[in-house]
Amino acid sequence: MPAGGKRVLLAKPRGYCAGVDRAVIAVEKALELYGAPVYVRKEIVHNRHVVETLRERGVIFVDETSEVPEGELVVFSAHGVSPAVHAEAAERNLRTIDATCPLVTKVHKEVNRFAKDDYDILLIGHEGHEEVEGTAGEAPDKVQLVDTAEDVDKVQVRDPSKVIWLSQTTLSVDETMERVDQLRDKFPGLADPPSDDICYATTNRQVAVKAMAAECDLVLVVGSTNSSNSKRLVEVALKAGARASHLVDFAHEVDEAWLEGVETVGVTSGASVPDVLVMDLLAWLAERGWDSVDEVTTANEKIAFALPHELRKAAKA
Ligand code: SF4
Repeated sequence: MPAGGKRVLLAKPRGYCAGVDRAVIAVEKALELYGAPVYVRKEIVHNRHVVETLRERGVIFVDETSEVPEGELVVFSAHGVSPAVHAEAAERNLRTIDATCPLVTKVHKEVNRFAKDDYDILLIGHEGHEEVEGTAGEAPDKVQLVDTAEDVDKVQVRDPSKVIWLSQTTLSVDETMERVDQLRDKFPGLADPPSDDICYATTNRQVAVKAMAAECDLVLVVGSTNSSNSKRLVEVALKAGARASHLVDFAHEVDEAWLEGVETVGVTSGASVPDVLVMDLLAWLAERGWDSVDEVTTANEKIAFALPHELRKAAKA
């Protein structure tokens, strides 16, 4: 293979979305304003590097609110929490900062609105994912989770003319629509969400990876194994024609055997990944001859969210 044939296609947009950026800054600001320790329920965002860095700065990550000592400060992660978690925090006199992404909050509000109108809500999402647990917790008696095609077979509703689908924000757009088609075959009166639940960042990163995948012998996705949107990027790359694709947290996790016979390497990253990790991967590839990098741009993102109101208030005070 001629050395000149080696090149990298770098997806844009990639990496941090507005919701992750806001959540990470919220924890950093909380450390600045209140000092360590700051408790965070679950991983603030699903990225090993981010979590480890914050841990070193004095953040204590817990799985449940009950693990936070009474009266302490706890931050809720970008994935959102159910009303039961808010209630438990209030009972324990915890001070809270809610870093739930506004686009997740939007889905919570949709659940509330349709539950009030007595709809059966079919929530398409991955079983056990924190976001889905928080969203379903808004109206547990009205929400049914639909993850697999088998779940579609099992769904029962009270009134087929009053049923709506909603979704987790970080799914594969194409697979979600497959699931919707299956649900609609079963319930022709199935209503659509008032607006897309899969967020702009998930969609944009999938569009960018699709645009370059067919040209790639290998697509490397930087992201953690518990990051839903990062895992979806691997699947989307393979479906869109990449000959191979792998998820890595760090450049050193790339297996050199993956590069055998490879000319074009596609690189992208999930919505919870700081770009420094992508730059590390590009440097690692450059050392091995993949030093020509072309960016493949399919969108320019300009979205930013204001910090959680608890922090804005405290910063003003
Ligand atoms: S991936 Fe989407 S929903 Fe999740 S934090 Fe980012 S912007 Fe919000």
